[in-house]
Amino acid sequence: MPSANIRKDDLVKVMTGKDRGKEGRVLRVSPRNGRVMVDGVALAKRHVRTQGRRSSGGSQLKQGGIVDAEMFIDASNVQVVCPSCGRPTRVGRRSGPEGKKVRICRKCEAEI
Ligand SMILES: [Zn+2]
Repeated sequence: MPSANIRKDDLVKVMTGKDRGKEGRVLRVSPRNGRVMVDGVALAKRHVRTQGRRSSGGSQLKQGGIVDAEMFIDASNVQVVCPSCGRPTRVGRRSGPEGKKVRICRKCEAEI
């Protein structure tokens, strides 16, 4: 079941896999299949074509080659790092003052 507990720009820590222990900001979230893209995590070599075209105003070529690009990983492999206690935690939910759902740290109960 997809979890909407992780959001873009969250700081997360990778708990499993070859990038275990790495921390990074969430770049993209794919809520439909519960996957996230994390800055600097799950890098894969990707071939990039040279882009652009020569025009009268000069050449604006973007050099192609091999670059490192992040891949989507399963959101269940990462945990949000709580800004309050600094520990990776599962995210809980609680009703806030105006009945709005807020995310809380399961460890220290602080709002995330
Ligand atoms: Zn906490």
